[in-house]
Amino acid sequence: MTERIGLAEKMLGVPGVVVLDVEDEPGELIVTVESTKAKAHCPSCRRRAQAQDRAVVHLRDLHISGRACRLVFAKRRWRCRTKGCVRKTWTERLPGVAPRQVLTLRAGAEVTRQVGQLCRSVSSVAEEYGVCWDTAWSAVTFHGVPLVDDPKRVGQVRALGVDEHSYLSATREHATIFATVLVNLDRRKVIDLFEGKSAAKLRQWTGKRPATWRRGVRVVALDLTDTYRAGLAPHLAHATRVADPFHVTRVANRMVDQVRRRVQNETLGHRGRKDDPLYRSRKLLIMGEERLDDRGRERLMDALRFGDPDDEVLGAWMAKEAVRSVYLEPDPEVAAVLLDNTITACLADDVPEIQTMGRTLSRWREEILNHHRTGASNGPTEGMNFCAKQVKRAGRGFANFSHYRLRVLLHAGGVTWPTTISPPSIRSTAPH
Ligand SMILES: [Zn+2]
Repeated sequence: MTERIGLAEKMLGVPGVVVLDVEDEPGELIVTVESTKAKAHCPSCRRRAQAQDRAVVHLRDLHISGRACRLVFAKRRWRCRTKGCVRKTWTERLPGVAPRQVLTLRAGAEVTRQVGQLCRSVSSVAEEYGVCWDTAWSAVTFHGVPLVDDPKRVGQVRALGVDEHSYLSATREHATIFATVLVNLDRRKVIDLFEGKSAAKLRQWTGKRPATWRRGVRVVALDLTDTYRAGLAPHLAHATRVADPFHVTRVANRMVDQVRRRVQNETLGHRGRKDDPLYRSRKLLIMGEERLDDRGRERLMDALRFGDPDDEVLGAWMAKEAVRSVYLEPDPEVAAVLLDNTITACLADDVPEIQTMGRTLSRWREEILNHHRTGASNGPTEGMNFCAKQVKRAGRGFANFSHYRLRVLLHAGGVTWPTTISPPSIRSTAPH
């Protein structure tokens, strides 16, 4: 290898080192380097230091031309000969290497990006880099925590979304564990998440924000659970609360399902089987009316004619459509009239499930109508929950919530990744 052009150093791209040897081994390139610094001064007394010996460290660096790269660095140990100097010996540092790390800084940053941004599993990235799981994870923590803690990441939030999802499924030892996600609805990014879904936890979280930040939150979108509504007081009591349309419609759909199951059981004496008319139309029942084609409408009416002798399911279906019609109406005044009519009709209905829904709608009347006034919805939060689920799948179940939180925030938290310059594109000469 001609060293005139410093080919090996250029390809390695680590400043301040000279490449002594490159060995081609199965699975990796072994690059032996040493520092170009031939002299050093004592950090304590500033006198010229004496070279003592070398200690060899093995580091994992970025891949070179798709090959894993092991840096073998013979670092010098220096000694101070000055009489009375407190400093005895010390070792030199390689630029781009943190003390006691197996991965170089740039390799650790890449591992973090693969795990965080690209949502890969820690074990697959660890395997690719030939390090153990703990080494890869400690790199993710080392590089990822500062990115997530960067105060510029959260910034001021005008519209806040609060939503829950299951973080660990129930096992023999514990019930389902939930996590609460807080989202910036305008910028569609997760700002934080915490374990649990209680009012106290939400209050604790909002309590930790600066007062100016809390004042800046004008709108909060949430599902129809009283816990979150209670948790907003006192810190975010000033914000306009919006019941998320997705959750309101889901309440209506679940009510239709409940009535269908009960009527099914009462008329046929068993749970739904594939030939039962109501069971067969279960998806048609919760589909929006405008999405039904002629055939679907016909099948639905047939199912109700045969399976719903007292028109209870029909009543539930109509109540559900009445709720949906509130959202199809853009004018806030008209929507308020539609909602009030729906509530009155539901409360007067004989079907207990419809009555229950009427009471829920009446408790959340203001919040439901606030959607028309503010346009806020948790739609983006639901999207973020999907992101969180992807992270969960990549992690194959998390036992440690702080790991889960870090990974979700790296993936969906709007982290500013260190920028690299994109290469100029090379165009093909062949026509596409
Ligand atoms: Zn000294």
